[in-house]
Amino acid sequence: MTSTRNSTADNSLESGHPYSAHMQQLIQAAKAAGTPYASMLLNEAGDVVVQNVNTVKQQCDPTAHAEMNTIRQAAAKLGRVNLSGCHLITTCEPCPMCAAAAFWSNISKVTFGLSIAGITAAGHRQIPIKADDILRHSKAKAEVEGGLLADEVRKIFP
Ligand SMILES: [Zn+2]
Repeated sequence: MTSTRNSTADNSLESGHPYSAHMQQLIQAAKAAGTPYASMLLNEAGDVVVQNVNTVKQQCDPTAHAEMNTIRQAAAKLGRVNLSGCHLITTCEPCPMCAAAAFWSNISKVTFGLSIAGITAAGHRQIPIKADDILRHSKAKAEVEGGLLADEVRKIFP
């Protein structure tokens, strides 16, 4: 597996990208939930294990980001904390907390839409540390790619 490490790019990848349909599904789920944040985890076979949205307000839990919810539920469903071989797809670049959760769960690949810089530009508070920086500095073997349908994700911000 090659590491592209192009997480800073906000120019949307082609709609023919292998995961553009997954991203479209997440964008619809996020829209329906009234949040820009949705994510899913695929298993080694590429099947969706769980899909989730940000539920911080509903659960009164500041850590209930879409990716945290997804990783928690996927680990519980699969019955293992090692999610090596799994692929996290998320509308927005994982924040440092969620990127760290991807590290702790050994997720192999992360694909996101809008970057942290893009989220900030859209008016949401973010910690300006890239997911790729967290994963690279922790020597995680995760491949990170960003910018998938970023323009579409930007449109679901209020
Ligand atoms: Zn997060």
